Amino acid sequence: MTEPQYKPGLIRTPHGRIRTPALIPVVAASYGIWDLWIDGDCIAPWDLSQATILSLYHILPYKRRERIFSEGIHKALGTKRPVWLDSGGFQYMRKGAELDPMDVLGYQKMARSDVAVTFDYPITPGLDEQNKLLRLERSISSANMMLEKKGDMMLYGAIHGSTPREIVDYIGCLDDGFDGFGIGSLVPRKSQYAYLSGIISAVRNRTDKPLHAFGITGFPAMYALSYLGIDTFDSWTYLVAASFKEYIHPEKLNRIKRLKELSSLPECGCPVCQEHGLKDFVGPDSASEMLLALHNLYVFMREMENVREAVSRNELEEYIMGKCECGNRNISIAFREAKRVIEEKK
Ligand SMILES: [Zn+2]
Repeated sequence: MTEPQYKPGLIRTPHGRIRTPALIPVVAASYGIWDLWIDGDCIAPWDLSQATILSLYHILPYKRRERIFSEGIHKALGTKRPVWLDSGGFQYMRKGAELDPMDVLGYQKMARSDVAVTFDYPITPGLDEQNKLLRLERSISSANMMLEKKGDMMLYGAIHGSTPREIVDYIGCLDDGFDGFGIGSLVPRKSQYAYLSGIISAVRNRTDKPLHAFGITGFPAMYALSYLGIDTFDSWTYLVAASFKEYIHPEKLNRIKRLKELSSLPECGCPVCQEHGLKDFVGPDSASEMLLALHNLYVFMREMENVREAVSRNELEEYIMGKCECGNRNISIAFREAKRVIEEKK
């Protein structure tokens, strides 16, 4: 029997505890339904989850930014639960822009976020060696600088590496005192399960601190990486799928497209589907997109809750094996790679 790398965990924040493994929904300002959630009386993503994560990339151009910085992010959202504030390093890289790490820290403090993440310079698979090393060095020095001035705010160090060895060496260059680590640069390789498993397993063996996997969104990787000991994930698949009018199948866990052409949806026990049906999801307005997003989020949350329970019973493998039958082929492909990495270590 393989010794599991996962165990139940608890992250303590100023706004309460997060039981892990946990999925933390991303809330972004670039979608029209954001305002509806903040202003409306409707249920919002932060009401359904243990915590929420936002990116500075979405807050800085947002019309409510001053309110967020003066009153704090909790008041702006209307939540008493933990809020994470990511630096947006990945999104800024995609735009070819950068922020000053110390400005980032200032924003994170002003927003009174529970958990902040250091500003980083992610690496991409095609990057030449010299540029890659430069970006890794800059991410390390940014993280160490921010750590020094973080005060009593919880701070996760963003970590990167193109190989297991490289990311383990990276952690060795960080100063002591981070509350956890956020593993970045995974998004371009999020479907390369063997690669992901190698990186995650190496980091898990290097540190006992809470680990967050940035941008890993699908069920196959969520199961496999929970098995490898990841504590938290962020996802906005629930929202992106809804914006494309896609409904996440509650049992098969795949996305049902072209809802307008359907006559009915599969049975779903979530509170949204108890009150609403297909016709409420296909409207052109933000309200129907919001309902669809909430259904999708319920499916994600239910699965993470099941994973947590299986972890606490030490039966995660059995749970994932059961899910391999659900119809999403990638679940067994991803899990096989996770198992292989652990077997190789023995
Ligand atoms: Zn539902």
